[in-house]
Amino acid sequence: MLLKSINPATGEVIREYDEWQWSEIDAAMDEAVASFHQWRKVPISRRKDLLEALANKVIEQIEGLALNITLEMGKPIKEAKAELEKCAWLCRYYAEHAETFLEQVHVPTEAASSYISFQPLGPVLAIMPWNFPFWQVFRFSIPAILAGNSVLLKHASNVPACAIAIDRLFSDAGFPYKVFQTLLISRRKVERLIADRRIQAVTFTGSTPAGRLVGEQAGRGLKKTVMELGGSDPYIILADADLEKAADACVQARILNAGQSCISAKRFVVEEPIYNQFLDMIAERMKKIVMGDPTDEKTDLGPLARNNLRLDLEMQVNNSIEKGAELILGGNAEDYPNAFYPPTILSNVKPGMPAYHDELFGPVAVLIKAANTEEAICIANDTTFGLGAAVFTSDVEKGRYIAEFELDAGCCFVNDFVRSDPRLPFGGVKESGHGRELSVYGLREFVNIKTVVVR
Ligand code: NDP
Repeated sequence: MLLKSINPATGEVIREYDEWQWSEIDAAMDEAVASFHQWRKVPISRRKDLLEALANKVIEQIEGLALNITLEMGKPIKEAKAELEKCAWLCRYYAEHAETFLEQVHVPTEAASSYISFQPLGPVLAIMPWNFPFWQVFRFSIPAILAGNSVLLKHASNVPACAIAIDRLFSDAGFPYKVFQTLLISRRKVERLIADRRIQAVTFTGSTPAGRLVGEQAGRGLKKTVMELGGSDPYIILADADLEKAADACVQARILNAGQSCISAKRFVVEEPIYNQFLDMIAERMKKIVMGDPTDEKTDLGPLARNNLRLDLEMQVNNSIEKGAELILGGNAEDYPNAFYPPTILSNVKPGMPAYHDELFGPVAVLIKAANTEEAICIANDTTFGLGAAVFTSDVEKGRYIAEFELDAGCCFVNDFVRSDPRLPFGGVKESGHGRELSVYGLREFVNIKTVVVR
């Protein structure tokens, strides 16, 4: 089978890659085991230096790497650069906190000494998506490697050049012993890998259906997993909110990466008294979005990452309109080439419509009317997902209470859009997955939290 890099803006096949044979995959797994046994003994101070070196390499090579991202999955070049800068920040953050995060925790007991030690698990398989082709990989790998694990990456089939570039970055930075390896494989080879006794744990980022399958396979082998799945993040706009600021945040959060983010603002739940006014504000902003060539620094919105993703989105939008949603803007993908999908607004979205229940992975603002705050919270939680959520209100204490106690999601923001941050844990509840990435919590996912007692 061939893995293809296809430019979604032009439809051009950039390059084809042969999928690896089992003999190559087998050798990589052996190397991952061997590298783990050496890497785990490398002092933390050296691991920190390598993370700093990796951050430097990312920044040195940022122009070429960003272009790679843009050509393979259509992200506007300015966003691709921002993604890479965030990867460098993540490396530096973990380098800075390495000792604190990995130091033993002493717990007084009757024994002479008793403590908790954080030991690595071994080779971890990472199955990653194309939407943030560097950030998603770094977000998992950096803490996992810092903790002493080795990593095997199965990246999405549409971003092989990014996958190879990440592998090369680790070598360029001086990481020894193939601590990080990219496997060029399709999804069909994953089940056997998960079952292989050399793989100790699995992390998955992507859609909920694929995550469910991977989770089942890992469960059969009793392997630890972290699942970072889809989302349908609600943004509640209360009547007392600063509407200008709320509209800015909502549109930015919906348009970023052409709406292809697990934590995009997917449903705007708006209190009735301000519904029409807010809809106008969203429309005004969505109309100003510049869609076009993603390699142009002025472009806000590039194409979706693949033609089939555009088809899926068209079906979700059309089906919602057939069921009564009002099309306020866009929706006319057929007027644009390849994987481009225009800024679109659906209003009066109701239960039973795909736009109400499903993850819409594209630049589609979905507005739902709520009679009052209580109903807005019910609508926000009326989803199988639970990744991010936001609430906009001038009553900050009320917003904080709703964020902390009322919203069923892993990351809740007040008066701002949801974003990941190396310093804070990131992950979901319900069908958005389990486990956490980033911060000390992300690092502790792939370690043996070992109890040591000395009499
Ligand atoms: P998928 O979940 O299918 O793909 C994500 C990763 O999982 C890829 O590496 C893919 O490999 C792999 N994968 C898929 N199926 C399996 C399987 N059965 N066993 C093992 N690995 C598998 O996402 P898509 O790219 O198809 O996107 C479809 C939808 O998923 C989007 O519209 C969006 O709703 C959601 N999604 C959510 C993401 C998020 O960040 N929450 C990220 C990406 C998608 P391969 O590429 O070889 O198929």
